[in-house]
Amino acid sequence: IRRLGVLTSGGDAPGMNAAIRAVVRACVHHGIKPYGIREGYKGLIDGQIEPMNARSVANIINQGGTLLKSARSQAFRTPEGRQTAFENFRSADLDALVVIGGDGSFTGATLFEKEFGIPVVGIPGTIDNDIFGTDYTIGYDTALNTVIEAVDKIRDTATSHNRLFFVEVMGRDAGFIALNSGIGCGAEEILIPEADRGIDHLIKSLERSDRTGKTSSIVLVAEGGKDGGAFEIAKTLEAKLPDYEARVTVLGHIQRGGRPSCFDRVLASRLGVAAVKTLMAGNSCVMVGVRNNAVALTPFAEAISKHNAIDDELLEVADIVSI
Ligand code: ATP
Repeated sequence: IRRLGVLTSGGDAPGMNAAIRAVVRACVHHGIKPYGIREGYKGLIDGQIEPMNARSVANIINQGGTLLKSARSQAFRTPEGRQTAFENFRSADLDALVVIGGDGSFTGATLFEKEFGIPVVGIPGTIDNDIFGTDYTIGYDTALNTVIEAVDKIRDTATSHNRLFFVEVMGRDAGFIALNSGIGCGAEEILIPEADRGIDHLIKSLERSDRTGKTSSIVLVAEGGKDGGAFEIAKTLEAKLPDYEARVTVLGHIQRGGRPSCFDRVLASRLGVAAVKTLMAGNSCVMVGVRNNAVALTPFAEAISKHNAIDDELLEVADIVSI
């Protein structure tokens, strides 16, 4: 490999900058010329490709978001769009690509490599932690810390006013953020798509709390549950238990921003270095991740189609410590 392109795609996540920095510096270390592609696949189609060097990624390890910017590109979903992307890729004389993003980004990368034979390696960057093949995605740990900081503040009001709070966190199809931050902030109940036990279970739990003298409760809700988001659940609950007056907070995009945690910076640095090594070793269409604290490769096909299961032990812990 002589010249390598790197882009960030899909939703941004804290730690993406640390990953860009690691990819660029690993390239420099190995004598490869790094190029930054702005705005994900959109920038590849528009020809936004710029040379980078060790200094162009200075002072970004501590910043959330992505220096290269991210975007969602409809055009890249079409063969014509990918053809234009390929032409730009070739005119910049690039011969390999690192994609930092989620499973949609890896689907696009798979097509790009199939159609044009470009070696591509992926780095999982998304706060949801919903990518198979890695124990952690970049941004997840920071998001957890953001959630518990916010919920700690909400708890002050919940306690002072004996109130029931529903806090909605991100996770369209995955409850990792809700489950782990829920345990971390001492939630009374945690509602996640993978283990949805319904409103009746929640009611039982609240009634038990009443009996045992608990005066305030925080319920964490993953946005993708079958009973709806936090607002819907609060409404359903108030209809069934008119004595309860619930408050709802939707944390929203604050979960995607902020300074990356040390964990995410280290993870991103490891995966950035590993991505360049993986390409140099002749691999393609694989994602670099960590499993049991070692770098592990997973074919895109598997990373896209399979899902990490929620840990039953964590569900049990959540139940036991919330009584
Ligand atoms: P997040 O987890 O934040 O949603 P993601 O990578 O899954 O990240 P997507 O919006 O699904 O985010 O995908 C990012 C981009 O990847 C899309 O805007 C599109 O350009 C490309 N992409 C996604 N799916 C496909 C596909 N089936 N074919 C071609 N390109 C795709």
